[in-house]
Amino acid sequence: MSNIEQTLSIIKPDAVERNLIEEIKSIFIKKNLKIKENKKIHITKEEAAEFYKVHQTKPFYDDLCAYLSSGPIVVMILEGNNAVLSNREIMGATDPKQAKDNTIRKLYGISIDKNSVHGSDSIENAKKEINFFFKN
Ligand code: ADP
Ligand code: MG
Repeated sequence: MSNIEQTLSIIKPDAVERNLIEEIKSIFIKKNLKIKENKKIHITKEEAAEFYKVHQTKPFYDDLCAYLSSGPIVVMILEGNNAVLSNREIMGATDPKQAKDNTIRKLYGISIDKNSVHGSDSIENAKKEINFFFKN
């Protein structure tokens, strides 16, 4: 049975800087996730802090917010069967060193902080994150 969901994906500054946008998009498309919305933006540190506020108690929070706002990013709504989990599998583990072969983070991630992509971790967070970037 199909279970069509939407999730939020971000191509992070390290990947945009290395011209990996089209490669990464083509991986999602090959894996049957449609790119429903897509925009290249450069957010402020305050916006990054709002987006990542679930991590505000973590020791890496400040660096994380500085990083996400350090250069252009591409934010996308991906849609497809079990899109939230499917995107997480396509991305691979947070730390590229732990990520499985052929995942985006294994292929392109530089380090745990410069790990090339973000993906929502639940349906509820996907809704919040999509609304954060694509509210009308
Ligand atoms: P994911 O992006 O896989 O959902 P988390 O939600 O746990 O991972 O963390 C959000 C982001 O914070 C990660 O993608 C990564 O860029 C950064 N991060 C996570 N853990 C660390 C860490 N131990 N040191 C530095 N940065 C981290
Ligand atoms: Mg996360």
